[in-house]
Amino acid sequence: MTETLLIIEDNEQNFYMMRFLLEKSGFEVIGAENGREGIDKALLIKPQGILLDIQLPEMDGYAVASELKKHDELKRVPIIAVTSYAMVGDRERVLAAGATGYIEKPIDPETFVSEIARYLAESQRDREK
Ligand code: MN
Repeated sequence: MTETLLIIEDNEQNFYMMRFLLEKSGFEVIGAENGREGIDKALLIKPQGILLDIQLPEMDGYAVASELKKHDELKRVPIIAVTSYAMVGDRERVLAAGATGYIEKPIDPETFVSEIARYLAESQRDREK
């Protein structure tokens, strides 16, 4: 079965890069430009994973992650934060908001897809426990 990933990202270049890499590896990719659109699409398509930019207009990634986790049908969908924030404490903050993993920008095309795949596999294993 093809795995569908939702990318919530307001930067077009970042979105195209992530989509290109993931589609090349066989994932189906859906995009959303802001948090509200992302939450609506997540509820509609129930993706196998959500890639979440932290720096988003209006509703930031922390707020989006918390909101996503309020919905029972999305509680088990792994959220992977993708962010250029390199400040100490960000990782903890993003994990506390409900993300299962964290990838730093700029994206490394060599490792990006394998990191995503690793987070998806980990979350699958945790669900089966
Ligand atoms: Mn952004």
